[in-house]
Amino acid sequence: MSSLTVQDVTKSFGATPVLTGIDLHVPSRSLTALLGPSGCGKTTLLRLIAGFDDPDTGRIAVGDRTVTGAGRGVPARRRGIGFVPQEGGLFPHLSVAANVTFGLPRRERRDAGRVRDLLALVGLDAALAERHPHQLSGGQQQRVALARALAPRPSLVLLDEPFSSLDAALREDTRQAVADALQASGATAVLVTHDQAEALSMADQVAVMRAGRLVQLADPQTLYRHPLDLDIATFVGDAVVLDAEVRGGQAHCALGVLPLERPCPDGPIRILLRPEQVQLGERTGGTPTARVHSVDFYGHDARVLLDLPSGLRVTARLDGHTLPADGAEVSLSITGAALAFPGGSAAVPAGRAELADLG
Ligand code: ATP
Repeated sequence: MSSLTVQDVTKSFGATPVLTGIDLHVPSRSLTALLGPSGCGKTTLLRLIAGFDDPDTGRIAVGDRTVTGAGRGVPARRRGIGFVPQEGGLFPHLSVAANVTFGLPRRERRDAGRVRDLLALVGLDAALAERHPHQLSGGQQQRVALARALAPRPSLVLLDEPFSSLDAALREDTRQAVADALQASGATAVLVTHDQAEALSMADQVAVMRAGRLVQLADPQTLYRHPLDLDIATFVGDAVVLDAEVRGGQAHCALGVLPLERPCPDGPIRILLRPEQVQLGERTGGTPTARVHSVDFYGHDARVLLDLPSGLRVTARLDGHTLPADGAEVSLSITGAALAFPGGSAAVPAGRAELADLG
């Protein structure tokens, strides 16, 4: 398997720029998720890598081999790239075995052992080999599509929102099977998704795209904990964003006085907390209080909306076992530190900010 390098790639459709100055390196045997809202250019970038379309400028290389740019243009079929489209794109009139071996030389297509190995790689029973696509579930079809993409041992596998048509339970299982198969085959992979949970849970690195630009490239934990701006922060997860004022190295805000992840000069800022940092306790003197507005129970955890006396509403994410009732008065504490971003508004009143030291 090879690495992928995208250098300064731009693409316009007519007068409309769709990709601007994209730089991306995907190390060999790793999975990168392209994450971004609808229309930000994810599929366009994937299509340029696959060779279905040409960039206006820039260079794309698979391993050491330039496939587009610098005067070269290797056709899609010669790039050694496997592609898994949104809904599998299996040939309806062919059996599973014939679908999986479609891209192989004729001699290898008759090798039943090869089909069995490829189906095992994606977690499917060899008994499915003679079925047709309409006799498979959506998740099984996606796994067959991946087996087909992996069959010719491509340098790189591209997956375009491969789980979007699956329901929630099937999506989790299929994601896991696909991640396992990619890892077992040592594949280098690029996955397009607009689902942040999918990107964070599956990828080694996540490339966040916005309006045709790549705005952050980081491993999932760094992206979630240290997003470069508040738009990225709120796109990759639920967020509590508050105005605050830095005094003496701490953030004074409606939730009290909080430590900061990184030193910050005195003045107004905005701070980011994640809902799982907000903890509830019995009401006691001296700590900030809130009234429970509502509880969305998901089983394993719950999202609790809390109204602060100032009128602000913040979100807490709590485990599903110990939940407050709607309307309950609770006290709040914060675990960990807040992340600071420029752009705070008016100073936070000292009286409220110093209600408690929550650090
Ligand atoms: P989604 O998640 O909805 O699939 P995306 O991030 O993959 O979105 P793209 O499909 O890459 O976005 O499209 C990016 C922009 O380019 C959109 O505004 C789209 O309308 C435009 N676009 C894509 N393909 C073409 C085309 N062939 N001709 C003209 N405009 C196009």
